[in-house]
Amino acid sequence: MSTYIFGHTTPDSDSIVGAHSLSYLKNQLGEDCTPTRQGEINPETAFILEKFGFEKPILKTNYAGEKVYLIDFMERSQSPEDIDEATILGIVDHHKLGDLKTDAPLEMWVRPVGCSNTIVKQMFDYYNVEIPKDLAGMMMCAILSDTVIFKSPTCTKEDTKAVKELAEIAGIDDPKALGMEMFIVKSDVLNETKRALVLRDFKDFNMGGNKIGVGQLEVVDLSVFDDMKEELFKAMAEIKTEGERHSVLLLLTDIMQEGSQLLVLSDDNSKIESAFDVTLENNQVWLPKVMSRKKQVIPFLEKEF
Ligand code: MG
Ligand code: MG
Ligand code: MG
Repeated sequence: MSTYIFGHTTPDSDSIVGAHSLSYLKNQLGEDCTPTRQGEINPETAFILEKFGFEKPILKTNYAGEKVYLIDFMERSQSPEDIDEATILGIVDHHKLGDLKTDAPLEMWVRPVGCSNTIVKQMFDYYNVEIPKDLAGMMMCAILSDTVIFKSPTCTKEDTKAVKELAEIAGIDDPKALGMEMFIVKSDVLNETKRALVLRDFKDFNMGGNKIGVGQLEVVDLSVFDDMKEELFKAMAEIKTEGERHSVLLLLTDIMQEGSQLLVLSDDNSKIESAFDVTLENNQVWLPKVMSRKKQVIPFLEKEF
């Protein structure tokens, strides 16, 4: 019976590429593993898969009775509903310690780097397994995505080193240029419903018994959102109500200006204001230098709640 490897709900490029890269490594090491995904892929991930000739992992949302590896998450709120009925053999991740529990010892590769695929690269090195050219290119793109082409405060020397080495294997001369191409694809927000946009990179967190949902859209020019704020708020309100969430936040991140416009719908705006030490105007505020949800947003909310 195959072991399944998958990333978080509403998967991003790191989760999808990580399912592929970790499965490949595990298969080389003699474990029968299959990459899967918990949801639809985003346009950036579609671009990466297409560029390097990979298929989408199989869509699978039930894992009762299965053996699994998790990549790029360890939060219950980002897991399949029946995760407690699965056997977690291991976790490869770069987030804060989550709230999942296991019955048996497990393999843990958790490091404070910018991307799970940086850790997978280090695992390839550790086991002395060669990375195929196209897989290397894909892993490189995942790192460029998660680190926002090295601009995110989550980016470490290990991430830049991994990109350099993967680019060499993949035969890519200018990783940053490819990264930019990827972010231009990611910036195309005009062909989707506002609801799909809010949910494109959306994560729920349990903070002191409150469900807080935080979405993020990273674009090369924030002005694409100028005419759609009202509709984005409408979609956020819908998502807030149906999920019985205390707050729904949306980060509109401008990767060139290096900051984020924060949109807020909350049962208690003062909590959000105090978390970031700001005053909201029309439920919005510009947060200069804020690019990372994991490092510059979630910890402050956690503290407040
Ligand atoms: Mg992720
Ligand atoms: Mg990641
Ligand atoms: Mg991200």
